[in-house]
Amino acid sequence: MDVSALKRDLEGIKLDDNPAIVQQKSRDFYWYSPVLKQQLDHVTGDLIVTPKTEAELIRVLAACHRHGVPVTPRGSGTGNYGQAMPLSGGVVLNLAEMNEIKSIAPGRVVTGPGAVLADIDKATRAHSGQELRLSPSTYNTASIGGFIAGGSGGVGSINFGGLRDFGNVLRLRVVTMEAEPKVLELTGEDLHKVTHAYGTNGIITEVEMPLTAAYEWVDVIVGFDASFMDAARYGNALACQDGILAKLITPIAAPVPQLYFKRHQKFFREGQSICVVMVAQHGLDAFLAFTRRAGGEVIFNAATATAEEKKGLPPAYELAWNHTTLRALRVDPDITYLQSLYPFPNQLALVEKMDAMFPGEVFSHLEFVRLDGNITCFGLPLVKFTTEARLDEIVRLHEDNGCPIFNPHRYTLEEGGMKQTDAVQLAFKRETDPQGLLNPGKMIAWENPDYDYRSGRTFLFKGLQKAG
Ligand code: FAD
Repeated sequence: MDVSALKRDLEGIKLDDNPAIVQQKSRDFYWYSPVLKQQLDHVTGDLIVTPKTEAELIRVLAACHRHGVPVTPRGSGTGNYGQAMPLSGGVVLNLAEMNEIKSIAPGRVVTGPGAVLADIDKATRAHSGQELRLSPSTYNTASIGGFIAGGSGGVGSINFGGLRDFGNVLRLRVVTMEAEPKVLELTGEDLHKVTHAYGTNGIITEVEMPLTAAYEWVDVIVGFDASFMDAARYGNALACQDGILAKLITPIAAPVPQLYFKRHQKFFREGQSICVVMVAQHGLDAFLAFTRRAGGEVIFNAATATAEEKKGLPPAYELAWNHTTLRALRVDPDITYLQSLYPFPNQLALVEKMDAMFPGEVFSHLEFVRLDGNITCFGLPLVKFTTEARLDEIVRLHEDNGCPIFNPHRYTLEEGGMKQTDAVQLAFKRETDPQGLLNPGKMIAWENPDYDYRSGRTFLFKGLQKAG
């Protein structure tokens, strides 16, 4: 890899090879996982390249192709699976400055890949009272390109499902990694080639996303003294209320709120499990009536809380999704987590079974979502980490009981996902990145087509072993 020759070819484009900056921009939230922390801690790129336009980006890709230099795209680096970490070194392609909001129309917005989600919403709200359908809880920092390539869903998934569901991305412009990079426009079925592909088969340079009506969202926390399952059943029933517009429904088991939600602690009684909700302001009365009838106690309501009570509180979504784990990790570094699905229609029975299985070791945290028209829930349970072997055993016990795990302790697409080859994404990579230079080591199907996903072993990327 001849980085000096590459630098000469990139004259005029913003570069940074200061080792401290390169290391900082080679990292994401991989350290969430004790397993990834150990495997990826040494990973660093050689050069940060920050194109401002698609034309500059094409120059970067052509030059890297010519010099055989790997390229790992990066939005804001908030991925928690090590997605944006350059396992074989090379160029970290920083897309943060391709952040233009290009056009807004009824139901749609067009932006550059580096646009931050909260900035997009600010613009679309001001323009025409619209907002994005879905956002991760890292809304204030994450980029739209990184969300599409590395995320899956989040706040809003209770109404719209996941990012990979038809209609949740409208169009992507993608540049290939070839001697003469091509620019492709993908829509419909073709979008699945690059959504959640970790940037292994093309760089997204423009996105067109659907919008929905923006309302004032009210943060509410509902408490349940008797048991976590009361909070879970309430969350499920609220999600099934077709007339109440909620954007977030998050049951969390005691003692997580009491131990880790430092700023909200004053609102919780000992032993109380909670359900964190974002509800549309115009639906608040109906929501409160439903909650009373369902036996929930409103312990925090942003619409009626005093300024003193609200002082310093993070927004509700920053208690939810992966922020629950972040808050726990800040207090107890031995906490880790899993990402699971409790498939419809047995979600509540499965939640109850798994909640009872690991007392004092695994603490339930659910996120209600609408998937294929049905209400069900994902889990992001917190786990008191002891050993990797025990973590693997907890994963196996979930899977043996019919709860698939999207393993956040693996850096490959397949192991963190459905544990099978995505033939569409693999075929697209053959077309768009024939030399395998984009984000190497993340797609097992490319690195080792004969890999046996049932082997029970963790895939180890050869390039990473060498770098270590
Ligand atoms: P990055 O981390 O920079 O990149 C993500 C992946 O996309 C990488 O593989 C990168 O190589 C690739 N990529 C980036 N830009 C491009 C591009 N233009 N073209 C091609 N590939 C590209 N995720 C969720 O889905 N839902 C959540 O609710 C959620 N909550 C989170 C909470 C916390 C506290 C943390 C730490 C993470 C959370 N995440 C969540 C994960 C992550 O924050 C989101 O997926 C986020 O949208 C990623 O955006 P980013 O700009 O930081 O992407």
